[in-house]
Amino acid sequence: MNNDMKFKNLTREELVEQLKALAADEEGLTVYPMSMGAMCYDPMPPKYKKTRCERCKKSYQISSWDESDYKSIVKVVEKIQACGVDARVERICHDCIKDLGIDYAAARVLDNDEEQEREELLLNEPGEGLEYVFNFKTKEQANYHVAIAPYSTHYQVVLAFLENQPFYEDSYDRTHFVRDEIHIIEQMTGITINDTRKNTLKK
Ligand SMILES: [Zn+2]
Repeated sequence: MNNDMKFKNLTREELVEQLKALAADEEGLTVYPMSMGAMCYDPMPPKYKKTRCERCKKSYQISSWDESDYKSIVKVVEKIQACGVDARVERICHDCIKDLGIDYAAARVLDNDEEQEREELLLNEPGEGLEYVFNFKTKEQANYHVAIAPYSTHYQVVLAFLENQPFYEDSYDRTHFVRDEIHIIEQMTGITINDTRKNTLKK
C-alpha cells in the first residue's frame, strides 16, 4: 500500500486522470503473476437467520454466506473511506431503494456492462430481499454516486484502484487485474474516463 495516499483527499479530477492512466497502461497486463484461484466452496449448506433492513427495520432472511460477504464488504468500504474519499455501504430492502428514488436497473452494477443485460434487468422485477447500496463521492463533490453492488469484488476493485494497486485477490485467491475491471470502477464510483455523471443522489 502506498502510504502517501493515506488521509489525502482525492479529487474527482485526480481520480479521472488516474483511471485514464490505468486504461492506457497496456504493458501493466503482462508484468504481474496471476493466480487462477482454487475451485473451493463451502461443502456445508448455509445456515439462515433473520436480519433487518438498515433503514425501515423490516426483517429478512439471509444466509450465513451472505452475512460473511457483507461483513467483508463493510471492512473494504472502511478502507476505501481511509483513502480520502466519502464512501458508505448499507444493506437495505427494495422498498427503501424505491423510497430513496434509486433506479434499480440503472444503479445495479453489472459485471459485463452490456446494454442487453441492463434491459433484462429493466424487464424483470427486481428480486426480493436485501441489497447492498454503495455511496461514493470525492470530498469536494456535493452528491453521492449510488451503485447497487452485490459482490465483494465490486468493492475490492475500487479499493485497489484508489490504492494504485495493479491487481487484487478475491476471497478464492483468484487474481483480478484492476485494468480489466475499469467498467466496474466506473459503475461503482461514477468516475469515468469520459467523465459523464449519472446516478447521483442528493443525500
Ligand atoms: Zn427497508
